[in-house]
Amino acid sequence: ETHPIMCSGCGIKIQTDEKDKIGYTPKSALERDVIICQRCFRLKHYNEVQDVSLTDDDFLKILNELGKKDALIVKVIDIFDFDGSWLSGLPRFVGKNPILLVGNKVDLLPKSVKRAKVIQWMKRVSKEYGLKPTDVHLMSAESGEGVLETANLIEQYRKDRDVYVVGCTNVGKSTFINRLLKEFGADDEFLITTSNIPGTTLDMIDVPLDDGASLFDTPGIINHHQMAHLLDKKELKIISPRKEVKPKVFQLSPEQTLFIGGMGRFDFIHGEDQSFVCYFSNEVTIHRTKLEKADELYENHLGGLLSPPFKENVEFFPPLVKQEWKLDEDKQDIVYSGLGWITVHGKGATVRTYAPKGVHVSVRPSIF
Ligand code: GDP
Repeated sequence: ETHPIMCSGCGIKIQTDEKDKIGYTPKSALERDVIICQRCFRLKHYNEVQDVSLTDDDFLKILNELGKKDALIVKVIDIFDFDGSWLSGLPRFVGKNPILLVGNKVDLLPKSVKRAKVIQWMKRVSKEYGLKPTDVHLMSAESGEGVLETANLIEQYRKDRDVYVVGCTNVGKSTFINRLLKEFGADDEFLITTSNIPGTTLDMIDVPLDDGASLFDTPGIINHHQMAHLLDKKELKIISPRKEVKPKVFQLSPEQTLFIGGMGRFDFIHGEDQSFVCYFSNEVTIHRTKLEKADELYENHLGGLLSPPFKENVEFFPPLVKQEWKLDEDKQDIVYSGLGWITVHGKGATVRTYAPKGVHVSVRPSIF
């Protein structure tokens, strides 16, 4: 009898007979230098497992486990959806573990924005949210900007420990890890396996590092207050920026209104005439009107002039909920979770926001 062949990915005994049993690999694959089972091979293509999202409960379990480990936590957020991708539960659970905060999708920010200022801002807001990251870094997993630096920082801070990458769904974790794998050579790609957090059935991606430690990619959690849950795929495409966001500036007088597609509304109630800078996906249409006409416009043109939502989805779209804000600080952002934000420059303006029921609106110090 010949020596059994083991999968270099997960260590299981390789077999070539039963397709749907563990350890299966096609006979042809035995010719390769590195032999892995079909399951690990599929994981190489990765997105098959990445589509899993967690329930809040599962996510709490994962956070709990992280607190018990001696590891580096890499928290990835979407810089364009800072609040929506924040994961507010993290500080309570990480224990003494260091956190590297990585702002992804930096390519979406206008070029005019100084990266150093964004980092400063991220540090300040982190503090306000009760997180004390060891370091803060920006990258674009898509364009590659800052990715190698992120890898170097991970190497520097982990000090032989395991690494856990955490983040909401859609922040770009898979894109990031796929890029890391590419940068570090094709052969390493074959070494990905999955492992389980005890008490959950969810797979984590385990990328072995060269000293025997692992980089774990935890599944993403869905933040419920994001706009994304109210839209279909086509609508989502419109609101998710794909390219550098071009800010749109509106000079408004009191009693004027802006509609953000049909998904949000912004009333300038009182204050001096001033400019309002809108940061939304370039495909989202901002419509200006008089406050006194706004209700009627929304009623008659939602799904048409004011879209998304598209006509066929209007009846499922939740009613808008209003909130009033008195802005006392200089330069603040009014954030519509998962959609974008409006920067208000002057002090002392009173504004009213409208967002679909369940979607968070918040005010923060301006990012620029
Ligand atoms: P995950 O759910 O966190 O694993 O996120 P994915 O890696 O699947 O990415 C979610 C979406 O964001 C995809 O449409 C990606 O193409 C996009 N994306 C990921 N990274 C970047 C980035 O750095 N810049 C931009 N503009 N888009 C990105």
